[in-house]
Amino acid sequence: MRRALDECVAYAKERKTFGVPIGQHQLVQAMLSEMAIRIEATQLLVRKAAWALDTKQRSPLVSSCAKAYGADSAMATAIDAVQVFGGNGYTKEYPVEKLMRDAKVLQIYEGTSQVQRLVIAKTLLGG
Ligand SMILES: Cc1cc2nc3c(=O)[nH]c(=O)nc-3n(C[C@H](O)[C@H](O)[C@H](O)COP(=O)(O)OP(=O)(O)OC[C@H]3O[C@@H](n4cnc5c(N)ncnc54)[C@H](O)[C@@H]3O)c2cc1C
Repeated sequence: MRRALDECVAYAKERKTFGVPIGQHQLVQAMLSEMAIRIEATQLLVRKAAWALDTKQRSPLVSSCAKAYGADSAMATAIDAVQVFGGNGYTKEYPVEKLMRDAKVLQIYEGTSQVQRLVIAKTLLGG
């Protein structure tokens, strides 16, 4: 996510449309801001899960929230990164298409995003 944001910020300052860098378009700014929000929120969730582990508190709710939110955020961020790069983002000439493929697997291995939600629901509902 951080790599995607760094690449997008650099590109948004350089690529011009309608006579201005695309970073001056508010809808592009919104995508950059959403990326930053996901990075900050994921960091906090991961740290909370790590803190629970360090303090020997079993917390499947927090760890599954961290895995699901982090993986889904990585995918959403990578998709936005391709969007910021436009047609260039879809090609292998630029780094973001690989970030999108790399992000996808996070939703699949080490417990899919669906399975994380099953764990969360089981924790909430018991059983
Ligand atoms: C690059 C890569 C590396 C991997 N490395 C390892 C490894 O080192 N060790 C290892 O053991 N495994 C590894 N795996 C396997 C990985 O853990 C599995 O792919 C993953 O657990 C999903 O299982 P599956 O592929 O059989 O999908 P399936 O279990 O067939 O799931 C297919 C879809 O159905 C959904 N689904 C399944 N069951 C439910 C349910 N009860 N409720 C709701 N939705 C459900 C899933 O979320 C998914 O969307 C790796 C996979 C990949 C892609």
